Amino acid sequence: MSQQGTINVAVENIFPLIKKFLYSDHEIFLRELVSNATDATLKLQHLARIGEAKVELGDQKIEIKVNKEAKTLHIIDQGLGMTEDEVQKYINDIAFSGAEEFLEKYKDSAKDSGIIGHFGLGFYSAFMVADKVEIITKSYKDAPAVHWTCDGSPNYTIEEAQKEHFGTEIILHISDDETEFLEESRIRELLNKYNKFMPVPIKFGTRTETLEKPEGAKEDDPAPTQEVDDIINNPNPAWTKQPTELESEDYKNFYRELYPMQFEEPLFNIHLNVDYPFNLTGILYFPKMTNDLNIQKDRIQLYQNQVFVTDNVEGIVPEFLTMLRGVIDSPDIPLNVSRSYLQADGAVKKISSYITRKVADKLKSLFNDDRKAFEEKWNDIKIVIEYGMLSKEKFFEKADKFALYPTVDGSFFTWDELIEKIKPTQTDKDEKTIVLYASNQEEQHSYIASAKAKGYEVLLLDSPIVSHLMQKLETSKEKIQFVRVDSDHVDNLIKKEEEQISKLSDEEKEALQKAITETLGDSNYTVQVEAMSSDAAPFIITQPEFMRRMKE
Ligand code: ADP
Ligand code: MG
Repeated sequence: MSQQGTINVAVENIFPLIKKFLYSDHEIFLRELVSNATDATLKLQHLARIGEAKVELGDQKIEIKVNKEAKTLHIIDQGLGMTEDEVQKYINDIAFSGAEEFLEKYKDSAKDSGIIGHFGLGFYSAFMVADKVEIITKSYKDAPAVHWTCDGSPNYTIEEAQKEHFGTEIILHISDDETEFLEESRIRELLNKYNKFMPVPIKFGTRTETLEKPEGAKEDDPAPTQEVDDIINNPNPAWTKQPTELESEDYKNFYRELYPMQFEEPLFNIHLNVDYPFNLTGILYFPKMTNDLNIQKDRIQLYQNQVFVTDNVEGIVPEFLTMLRGVIDSPDIPLNVSRSYLQADGAVKKISSYITRKVADKLKSLFNDDRKAFEEKWNDIKIVIEYGMLSKEKFFEKADKFALYPTVDGSFFTWDELIEKIKPTQTDKDEKTIVLYASNQEEQHSYIASAKAKGYEVLLLDSPIVSHLMQKLETSKEKIQFVRVDSDHVDNLIKKEEEQISKLSDEEKEALQKAITETLGDSNYTVQVEAMSSDAAPFIITQPEFMRRMKE
């Protein structure tokens, strides 16, 4: 005999779970509440725009206040507010998202309204830091204000309240073990982290502004001051604008806004802006890069509708681009999932290849538009490009046209230019074109001099991943071999070596060779007497390229 039934989920059991595990990070409660306040403001703006709300909006802002004595934190908005019925529906019903419902109802017209919420759990994150939460709210509709109170048990009270202006005030009674959230500096830090670019002005206290001295004021009269709202955010960050609206100075200013402690200017920027088949905006910056691959990688910030989410973009941005700086903003990145799932997600994959393509296109146009300037930047950006060529085939194909190969003399070749130049002189007896390079100009200078005396081009390849890139090029190009200038292969380059007139007799040569070989005591090296056509050295010691690579 079988039975069927419904598991009875008691709310009493869920509440403590929400409190504890909803988010691992308690601090995000503020992000959630400010997001709700922002949504409420944007919703009212939208309703006013389509003529459904007939109210004087005024200068809508969100205000955050700390009351240390009362141990309360207040989040006050001038958004659409709630009627009693709406509080019943939106607040008392856990996991019912009013944001989703709003977007569903106003589908097409509200598509670009920037509304944030969607899980319907954000509000309850307040209970992670508060043992009691109050809502005082008045709808823009002509309805009495409402006062809702809940102490974290499933029981709440709801009553009429006095409130003049439409909008909502959330009052958190901060619990004793979360008192850090009553510190002004901590709240300011959180607002700066999560809300710095949110679309509605956020006021946190006031600041003193110095005014112009009035005309006729004396030299040592103090300048007059006034108290003004301290707005902590920039509601219109550069990435939300069209590239055509921005000058290069605007991009630089935004970089400084993002990284106030960074004094070096970025080399260039890439504005991302796409709305099909996914939504993504953002600005990426190429900072000056060193050859150190271990540089800090959490420098690109991820936003959703201007709300900061994370600075770990692993899985969303291809790894070689995590060395860049900047912002990406996309509502289409699923965030409530694990990183490994993210990497398999179709939308995320598309986003990742879009970003890769945009970066490659930008580099290509920089190269085409001003090759000289591109060459000057090469050393500061090559690490990213070389890393990208190694890790992404698509990027390799594009970068192959603008990746540069510098010579020891300071000129730069593209791959095609290089091969065209060296093919006639640097092809060995197996028809392989030998790309000669040095890794250290000082240490290898006599080998370089000798190779140049023979009319060869010598590249200077010194980045830490270049040996991998050489292997990659050797396998993807036909009949190519990289050979370091101090390797014994250099001598086999030219098919018919010209006769050299020796200054030493054969016996002298033999004796010299023998003496040096014995001194070396290592059969992995070859000693060649008078192998150099310059007078730089009477003999040279070389080893096979493969031996040297094995040791690296
Ligand atoms: P979500 O934001 O995902 O919809 P929340 O749990 O954050 O879910 O909020 C639930 C609902 O409560 C919101 O959708 C909204 O209808 C209502 N709400 C929350 N805060 C406010 C507010 N400040 N003003 C008006 N309505 C609010
Ligand atoms: Mg929310």
